Amino acid sequence: MGIGWNFDNSYARLSDTFYASVGLNPVRNPKIVMFNGKLAEELGLNPQELQSEEGVQILAGNKAPEGSFPMAQAYAGHQFGHFTMLGDGRAILYGEQMTPKKERFDIQLKGSGRTPFSRGGDGRAALGPMLREFIISEAMHGLGIPTTRSLAVVSTGEEVMRETPLPGAILTRVASSHIRVGTFQYTAGWGSYEDLQTLASYTLVRHFSHIPPSDHQHLRLLQEVVHKQAELIAKWQLVGFIHGVMNTDNMAISGETIDYGPCAFMDTYHPDTVFSSIDTHGRYAYGNQPKIGLWNLARFAESLIPLLDEDEEKAIELAQGEISHYMGIFEDHWLSGMREKLGLFNEEDEDQELAEELLELMKNNRADYTNTFRSLTINKLEESPLYGKGEFNQWLEKWQARRERQSQSVEESTDLMKKSNPSVIPRNHRVEEALKAAEKHGDYSLVENLLKVLQNPYEYSSEQEEYCKLPGPSNVPYRTFCGT
Ligand code: AMP
Ligand code: MG
Ligand code: MG
Repeated sequence: MGIGWNFDNSYARLSDTFYASVGLNPVRNPKIVMFNGKLAEELGLNPQELQSEEGVQILAGNKAPEGSFPMAQAYAGHQFGHFTMLGDGRAILYGEQMTPKKERFDIQLKGSGRTPFSRGGDGRAALGPMLREFIISEAMHGLGIPTTRSLAVVSTGEEVMRETPLPGAILTRVASSHIRVGTFQYTAGWGSYEDLQTLASYTLVRHFSHIPPSDHQHLRLLQEVVHKQAELIAKWQLVGFIHGVMNTDNMAISGETIDYGPCAFMDTYHPDTVFSSIDTHGRYAYGNQPKIGLWNLARFAESLIPLLDEDEEKAIELAQGEISHYMGIFEDHWLSGMREKLGLFNEEDEDQELAEELLELMKNNRADYTNTFRSLTINKLEESPLYGKGEFNQWLEKWQARRERQSQSVEESTDLMKKSNPSVIPRNHRVEEALKAAEKHGDYSLVENLLKVLQNPYEYSSEQEEYCKLPGPSNVPYRTFCGT
């Protein structure tokens, strides 16, 4: 029996404006260090066969799978506000795997060597960051947040030169597509009008097939992408996820979270929280994410202008009309998510204020975001730094009264809270500890254990409990890095 590849490479059928077809860059001694058997099965792949010698060669980029069309995709992007040509500089797309359910998924290798878009880079990736992407993307999936997935990590047996030599690795990333805002920016900037039409039509068919072909279809495309991003970023905010590098090339049109470089989960609640070492001005701070989403969508809208109307002024007006809905849609999703986190079924005008007051209390008392909601959920308030504070007691009274003003019982309300407040998130100190054991000692047991609890983040069991603990005090703020 074979591995089960079933490629249908629709992107390769577009003109080569959109990509460069590439050869492989074999690595010396590939070994599978992480493998997602469940995802393999969902893709229609045989987990045993995929871990065989042939499978390893494929996951390492040493041998192209049958039916693949290795390519590097072209895209541009605004990085920290500056527009530039980019493209897959260290990734290759094998093609689109058709699943038994007839779904289409990109199979991409990240860290697979140089491509025509590599510029000065080596096209490679280090083991630590690839394991990190595996852990956090699968944690996001467990949390129910749209995301690219991780099928495997292969260590290459080669070193990559960074500040120090590091072990190299390749991640197999699975995505509903890798079409980005930056793909549209690239096409609007360097392609023809027909190319832009081609990309928009392709995206409509691939992701928004419910939109019928019509004169308004491109405006509808913008509308859908605005909705999906508003919903996605609301979900990030609700779990305290900080993406860290929301450049326009890292915003997927599908509405999946993509590019797990310097991302991390917020512990102590503060809107200014930044973990990325290169984000010195806090452009991508937690509290800025909704606004940056809007900024990126405006760049997407700009690239669609030629398709929206022959009359440019009219097109701009149409685009602005769609973009202007974003903040409201975001706030609606955020507020309904907050209601769920607070165990509220119905709507009252003061709910937003109630949620914001709690956040303010967290901020002023340096309370942990996840654990504050957790302690409210399981009524273990004595574990919170807010416990016993007069203002918090007042807030609790208000909240209790609010919960009583709904027809559902306290038990029902608590059940809703359990479904809406993760008991575990990939805590930075836990992730670091697990990565260290893997990188330094080849011990993957901590990564495996962490992944296991992160699959069920809404479970309140003793297994989860262990992972809710906060790190001890530290003088060094947590820092994350991208591009390693
Ligand atoms: P990112 O910050 O991960 O979104 O990457 C931005 C751009 O840099 C993309 O075009 C990547 O392909 C490229 N890039 C990142 N790391 C490397 C590398 N080691 N070699 C070549 N290109 C890279
Ligand atoms: Mg990127
Ligand atoms: Mg990256």
